Amino acid sequence: MIYLDYQSTTPLAPEARDAMLQWLDTSEGSGFGNPHSPHRMGRQAGAAIDLAREQVGALLPAGGRVIFTGNACEAINLAMRGTAQHRGAQGGAVSVSAIEHAAVWDTAEAIGKRHVLNVATNGQCNTNQDLPQDTRLVCVMQVNNEIGTIQPTVEWHRKAKENNALFLCDAVQSYGKMEVTGADMIAISAHKIHGPKGIGALWVRDGIELDPQITGGLQELGLRSGTLSPALCAAFGAAAVVAKDRMEQDHEHAEELWTLARDMFADNWALNGDEDTRWHGNLNVRRKGLDVARLMSECRNVMFSAGSACASGSGKTSHVLKAIGLSDKAAKSSIRVGWGRYTSREDVEQGIGAILKAANSQ
Ligand code: PLP
Repeated sequence: MIYLDYQSTTPLAPEARDAMLQWLDTSEGSGFGNPHSPHRMGRQAGAAIDLAREQVGALLPAGGRVIFTGNACEAINLAMRGTAQHRGAQGGAVSVSAIEHAAVWDTAEAIGKRHVLNVATNGQCNTNQDLPQDTRLVCVMQVNNEIGTIQPTVEWHRKAKENNALFLCDAVQSYGKMEVTGADMIAISAHKIHGPKGIGALWVRDGIELDPQITGGLQELGLRSGTLSPALCAAFGAAAVVAKDRMEQDHEHAEELWTLARDMFADNWALNGDEDTRWHGNLNVRRKGLDVARLMSECRNVMFSAGSACASGSGKTSHVLKAIGLSDKAAKSSIRVGWGRYTSREDVEQGIGAILKAANSQ
């Protein structure tokens, strides 16, 4: 099997697995204690979580706190609903880019007046557009999950501030790969950086207040009640340490595979999204008349995606590809391949080779 779907999820790093196993082993003297208990075993588990919080936070700006959540969707909901509730009845618009993940997109609609920020055909959400006067929250992701384009989040943060609005950055696809700066709140997820599924985090700038969305035991500064898993937190921390240490190396590796993959998708294939202002571990391409469902069934040994992992299978046309001006037909003839740390040149050659062979025979 060849895995070329790194935007959907990433394989667990051995370092993260090792860190996790320590806390799953219940043999004598080991750590199954409740991290919120005041006794010795509890304090040991609590210390592992404190360390993980520091490790995860080391890739985020200074001057904020990391709140562990179950995943990034939960982090985004906490940020958006938590700040809206804290504001009370003031209402106001929530301005979101047209290419946000459903976690942001659907939540914006659920909590108020969703205002859509346009995205250019190259996949960029530029700041040369006005925010409604009553905008209370602006949400622009750093790297898009479908087309990989990088957004000017620092500028959006500045613009939000000028409009007295908060700025939430969904950094799920960029955290651990590049610097994440310029935001009031940042949502991240462990399983996109070779950590385990089931844990994410919300970084919140000091001074920003939000209402909890899960009440109960008052864990995570009272913002997210529930007993934390030391195993998941420790593994997230370990994955963050490796991501930090290997950032340059991982980046160079992604670039090398990008050059290889880009050359393979020549001739009849067109690139979706900007060529350069983009994470080069993501290639989203289309080919006129391509039957993607047939392609996927003919390449069962290659893991790749039609549109976004979330939208694929739903039968819906990708809202991201539509936002950059593609017709329904063009969007539906698009595929996404993605790679990262553990992808070899052979994986790319063989995986894309199989995709091309099947596409050419249609
Ligand atoms: N935001 C983006 C950009 C994503 O790619 C994803 C997952 O695909 C999410 C949010 C949701 O992350 P999680 O799976 O941790 O809920």
